Amino acid sequence: MTNLLPEMAEIWQQTLNWQPAAQQQLQFQQLYELILEGNRHLNLTRITDPQEFWEKHLWDSLRGIAPQGRFISSLQEGASVIDIGTGAGFPGIPVAIAVPNCTITLLDSTRKKITFLDKILTELSLSNAKTLIGRAEETGQQCQHRQSYDIALIRAVGPASVCAEYALPLLNLGGLAIIYRGNWTEEETTTLHNAVEHLGGVVESIEQFTTPLSTSIRHCLYLRKIATTPANFPRAVGIPTQKPL
Ligand code: SAH
Repeated sequence: MTNLLPEMAEIWQQTLNWQPAAQQQLQFQQLYELILEGNRHLNLTRITDPQEFWEKHLWDSLRGIAPQGRFISSLQEGASVIDIGTGAGFPGIPVAIAVPNCTITLLDSTRKKITFLDKILTELSLSNAKTLIGRAEETGQQCQHRQSYDIALIRAVGPASVCAEYALPLLNLGGLAIIYRGNWTEEETTTLHNAVEHLGGVVESIEQFTTPLSTSIRHCLYLRKIATTPANFPRAVGIPTQKPL
């Protein structure tokens, strides 16, 4: 079995106006191989086919930071980013590879996953990323993390209002939360507006797009922090999911 990732240079160019340099392609390949290997001991991902890995993990991760098909400019200028509930490193690690100027904190509550991510960061020589073990509800109340990031990424961690409660407290004023979703409905938009209002944010935009290989529907929600989040958010561990805003 060969586990060679496709390059897809033209698709990268057409969809994100960007292409990986040789070194970045090599890092994607190394990441893929390390995850396949890690999957033998840890339950990291169901997605192991090379094309599918490229689309659902690499392309999808980077599409989120490229609203309207271009990387957010503050990222290139050294933004500080947190990936909340990063799991096997998505979307944070592809972002760290693609945008070496930004600095990324990969947050997850599972120690085993964080230990695995530390190994990946070392093997890929990714000096712009570091890991953090913790629950978003606690991290968001710690002064060294609260209101300290320019961009928060969050994919497949929970309902959007829960994601908003995890992400907005961690952002600087003017910062951006990017919530990655599959399907999205109008009703959800109403609930989200209400949640975001409590947290000092606004829904700046909601983008729908299709993935380039399997043409699956995806959404990204972009929330802007416009006011300080009240001190009682995020609520205690477990409350955001039990009683979503
Ligand atoms: N973002 C990754 C992983 C999604 S699985 C991806 O899209 O592939 C959800 C991950 O979030 C798990 O690794 C879980 O440990 C972590 N997680 C769930 N709730 C969390 C919380 N409150 N704080 C920190 N991490 C959390």
